Amino acid sequence: MSRFDTAITGGHVVVPGHGAIECGIGIRDGRVAALDDDIRPGDGEEHVDASGLIVMPGAIDAHYHLGIYRSIEADAATETASSLVGGATTIISYFRTGHHYMDRTGPYREILPDLLAATEGHAHTDFGYHIAPMTAEHVGEIEWLVDQGIASFKYYFFYKGLNLAADSTDAQAYTMSDSYDFGHLYKMMEEIARVERQGDRGERVSLSLHCENAELITMFMERVRDAGLPALQAYSESRPPLTERLSIHEAGVLADATRVRVNLLHLSSAEALRAARDVRRLYPELDLRVETTVHHLALTYDMLDGKGLGGKVNPPIRTAADVDALWSAVADGTIQWVASDHACCLEELKGDELWPALPGFGGTALLYPVLLSEGYHRRRLPLQRIAELASTAPAAAFGCHPRKGSIMVGADADLALIDLEREHVVTPELLHSAQDHTPFAGIRVKGWPVRTLLRGETVFADGEIVGSPSGRFVPRPLKAPKLGASDG
Ligand SMILES: [Zn+2]
Repeated sequence: MSRFDTAITGGHVVVPGHGAIECGIGIRDGRVAALDDDIRPGDGEEHVDASGLIVMPGAIDAHYHLGIYRSIEADAATETASSLVGGATTIISYFRTGHHYMDRTGPYREILPDLLAATEGHAHTDFGYHIAPMTAEHVGEIEWLVDQGIASFKYYFFYKGLNLAADSTDAQAYTMSDSYDFGHLYKMMEEIARVERQGDRGERVSLSLHCENAELITMFMERVRDAGLPALQAYSESRPPLTERLSIHEAGVLADATRVRVNLLHLSSAEALRAARDVRRLYPELDLRVETTVHHLALTYDMLDGKGLGGKVNPPIRTAADVDALWSAVADGTIQWVASDHACCLEELKGDELWPALPGFGGTALLYPVLLSEGYHRRRLPLQRIAELASTAPAAAFGCHPRKGSIMVGADADLALIDLEREHVVTPELLHSAQDHTPFAGIRVKGWPVRTLLRGETVFADGEIVGSPSGRFVPRPLKAPKLGASDG
């Protein structure tokens, strides 16, 4: 009998917190059972030769929108397959009631079981959900939601008072909320902080914030509407960095007052980063973590000029100076993690008119590839830091560490085996998403996963998805690994 189900040999293993070591990995019952330099090919029922490859912890794509424009089932089936291409083995998706998603309203006690059932059996990655309490009733469900394994919540600053004129509907009808204002936000913050403090959960329960100010967007939109700018530049100027900065400061004041842990999502600009640093300085006790996205690190509106509206997203794609500022913030630790904000949005939903075009696009397949190409190869960011950005930091922020986001004995054997020298020019086909276009099209990217393992099983190899969907719901906080124990 072999010592392991699978033996991986010959790879450079990037162990978060330690660095790259040349060693074998023994996998048993879906977990890492050994890291050792004398593991031989015959030690496993199955052998994976990782010679010439680096082994990274499977990425945690912590910003995702399963089911935003298609059914949960359809998105789970195709979009999580796309995640495997980029080395992500766990996704944590945002969900709210209201239009888009499941088009439902009512208590999460009724909706959450349906949401999980719709995802289960279709997802190729492990998955979790962040939930947005849209009504007073939902705020009353926060404690119940935490008990169900939902350790993170969301508030959208830009739905507050926004008149979505393009849809001839208002924010209230759109979100199906009662009063979506700062009173609602304050009560949500108080309740999340209270639930986290009580009991001995000992894990982080947090609130994620989409920081853009609605009133300013309404005004700037009117200003740029007829200015004749290129479309995506006009979009950026209709939601300028000032709208992020203002919401970030408001978030800081309210989070400090309520002692809630917060995550600033998808910061896109130098000005937003300055605001995040200022808020940290003002409120040093605040647990404030900062996210940016693959697309804000890789794209500018100038690059996308003349290429349609595929790159319309909130917050918008900005300038080269903003991209540089984001990379500096990644390097100096202002930013904790990078996610894709993946939303499968077909070309027909974009159309050819800027204002009605639906926002968002997919990028999950580029999570490790862009970090490696633009970060490691171009900017000499250490592999260790890239593992933190894509995997360890989001796992820690959202209550999955160290079962996820690490390579250690007892952790889930979620691994991305990466060829640092492999280069591809991005096409929609390469990404294995249902999305029929990509704003990243034509960009040369160097550093791609050649094999992805989920809990010890190969789920992606040589450009193809392997096997049927085997993703499981990840209740958070996820219990720490117990040595010798197996839950299959
Ligand atoms: Zn998002």
